[in-house]
Amino acid sequence: MAGEFELIARHFTRPVRRAALGVGDDCALLNVDAGQQLAVSSDMLVEGRHFLSTVAPERLGHKALAVNLSDLAACGAEPLGFTLALALPRGDETFAAGLARGLFALADAHGIELVGGDTTAGPLNLCITVFGQVPPGQALLRSGARPGDELWVSGTLGDARLALEVFRGTVSLPGGAFDTVRRAMELPQPRVALGLALRGVASSAIDLSDGLLGDLAHVLQRSGMGAQVQLGALPRSAVLAAQPAALQQQCLLAGGDDYELLFTAPAARRADVLAAAQRTGVAVTRCGFITGEPALQVLDAEGRVLQTGLRGFDHFA
Ligand code: ADP
Ligand code: MG
Repeated sequence: MAGEFELIARHFTRPVRRAALGVGDDCALLNVDAGQQLAVSSDMLVEGRHFLSTVAPERLGHKALAVNLSDLAACGAEPLGFTLALALPRGDETFAAGLARGLFALADAHGIELVGGDTTAGPLNLCITVFGQVPPGQALLRSGARPGDELWVSGTLGDARLALEVFRGTVSLPGGAFDTVRRAMELPQPRVALGLALRGVASSAIDLSDGLLGDLAHVLQRSGMGAQVQLGALPRSAVLAAQPAALQQQCLLAGGDDYELLFTAPAARRADVLAAAQRTGVAVTRCGFITGEPALQVLDAEGRVLQTGLRGFDHFA
């Protein structure tokens, strides 16, 4: 067991290079390149809501930062640094050390620094705020989709939800398959490089945290548009593809925790989208298009409109 200041000093203090001032004073001081806008986003992870108590601390540290970097990715912003506000039930050093390992491994992979935060006793809860930069006018927004734009998604969808169903006991999977989907749930990879490469190419973007239908609805609402989505075109892992159709549909359309990018681009930019994907080593799949009519339709393989009744996740619904 350690006190508040030992915990901070031992586990969450590292020298900064990019920032002008990191942990230890009343504020951190960040350097932003001349002429760039600061991009800021916060995401909180609450035990029992966003993660299960069984998660390894390393993976929790990874995920807390990953979901935040995913928001910068969705805006096409370049990550600079982050703060960590942490509530811990006890001054548990093993837990803090594991958390810090997962956090700093991902931070190092993206060349960003922890510059400050807050530490308090309380029910386990992590809130990270990320800071990034983007040239004015170049951020990818939810509001930019236009009629005829093609709808794209990165990676594969639905594995995190499938893993959650295994934890809930509604689905069972053989060990290897379970490990695969559990990794998707606990170790999402934020698509930062893809988001940067889509600047000037994509017309709108969002990261998928609450399920495709709910998150797409946010884009459509901000853009004043509608969309048609081809269910059969949605990219899925071999593990998910082996599940019953109704379960696949639920995981793909309303899964949540995917942390892939959903974005739109004019059809004329298709080659540029594919080049961005190639350059950044992330698969992208075309899965529908934007319509001027403000309705969201999902079509099955025969081109019939599905009545899914599925919705995105809402904490208060
Ligand atoms: P204050 O009293 O001004 O809120 P604190 O005593 O809470 O400052 O924190 C001391 C320093 O440690 C500050 O620079 C703060 O940003 C940093 N800090 C506190 N908790 C964390 C944490 N979990 N991760 C990184 N830095 C932290
Ligand atoms: Mg404080």
